[in-house]
Amino acid sequence: MQNNTLWIEYGLTTVAIILLVKALIPVREIIQQLQPLNTSCWASAGNARCRWKILSAFIFLFIIGYLLFIVMHASHHVNTIGDMVIPWILFGGAIFVFMVCSLSVKTANDLRKIYILEQESLTDPLMGIYNRRYLDRRLSEETQRAIRYEVPFSIFLLDIDHFKQVNDTYGHQIGDQVLKKLGIVIVNAVREPDIVVRYGGEEILVILPSTKITPTIDIAERLRQIIAETMMVGPELGTEQPQAINAQVSPTPETATDSRQGRAAHLQPAPKKEEERPAIYITVSIGVAGYRFSDIPDSAEMIIKRADQALYQAKEQGRNRVISSNGNDDQAGVVSNEKTT
Ligand code: GH3
Ligand code: MG
Ligand code: MG
Repeated sequence: MQNNTLWIEYGLTTVAIILLVKALIPVREIIQQLQPLNTSCWASAGNARCRWKILSAFIFLFIIGYLLFIVMHASHHVNTIGDMVIPWILFGGAIFVFMVCSLSVKTANDLRKIYILEQESLTDPLMGIYNRRYLDRRLSEETQRAIRYEVPFSIFLLDIDHFKQVNDTYGHQIGDQVLKKLGIVIVNAVREPDIVVRYGGEEILVILPSTKITPTIDIAERLRQIIAETMMVGPELGTEQPQAINAQVSPTPETATDSRQGRAAHLQPAPKKEEERPAIYITVSIGVAGYRFSDIPDSAEMIIKRADQALYQAKEQGRNRVISSNGNDDQAGVVSNEKTT
C-alpha cells in the first residue's frame, strides 16, 4: 500500500513536470510571433512579449519546484491519503498551465487567420489595393467623422485614359500588368494615411482623410505627373517582374505627355516576343471632390458623385488632367490641369 501511494505520488509529479515542459513550447511560439522590441523587458514590462517571457520564467520555476518536491520526498515515507493531496494539486496545476498556454497559442493562430482572411476580403487581388467593400466602410466612417467633429476629408477618382486600347493592342495580360503597376505607383505616391481603392475596372478612388480640397488637388496633380512619367511595362521588364510594370499608351514619356488631348499616342502592333515589347506609358484623368460642410450633411454617395462628375469633365476637356468639382465645396476647387511636365 505504502509503495503504491509512493509510486502514484512520483507518477503524478513526473507527469506534471512533463506537462509544464510541454507548456513551454506554445509559450515559445507566442513569444516568437510577437514583435520584438528594441528596449529590454525591464524597460517595458507592459509589453505582451515581455509578459509571456515572464510567464515562461514562472513555468520554469515551477518545474524546478516540482523536481525539488520529488527529491525531498524520496527520503520521506507517505502514510496517508492526505499526504497525496499535494501531488494531486501539483498535477492539477500543471494541467491548468498546459491548457492555458496551448489554448492561447491556438487562439492567437485563429485570430491571425481571421485577420488575414479579413484583409484578403478587403483587398483587390490584381492591384493589391483595397476593394469596394472596404471603400463603403471607410467612406461612411469618414463622413460620420466629418459630420460629428467637422473634420474635412477629400477624395479623388482616377481613370486611365484610353485603357481599352492598351488591352486591344497588347492584350489583356499586359493590361493587367499595367493595372498592377499602377496600384504600386499610386500607393507609393500618396501619403501613408491615404486610402487607395480599386473603384471599378481601371478606376481608382483615393480617400485623403483630414485633407481639404486644395492640397488634394496638388496631390492629385503630382500623382498625374508621376504616372505620365512612369514606364508601366517596358521591354526590359519580363512578366515575372510585375513590380516593374505600368500602363498606358505611348512609347516614351514625352509622347505620353503629348497625348494629353486624349489621343492614344503611337500605338504599336502587339509584339511577338517578350523582349520586343515596347515601353508602355499611360496617362490618367482625375476628378477631385472635398467634403462639403453645409446644412444638409454630405453623404458618401454625394461626394463620389461630385468626383465622378469632375472626372467626366476631365475626360471631356481632353484627358490627362485634374479637375476639381466646383459647386459649393470648401475652398471651391476649380481646375488643376496638365500644364507642367
Ligand atoms: P477613357 O479614356 O474614356 O476612359 O477610355 P477607356 O478606353 O479607358 O474607356 P473605359 O474607361 O470605358 O474602358 C475601360 C477598359 O478597362 C475596358 C476594359 O477592357 C478595361 N478593363 C477593366 N478592368 C480590367 C482588368 O481587370 N484588366 C484589364 N486588362 N483590363 C480591364
Ligand atoms: Mg478609362
Ligand atoms: Mg473607366
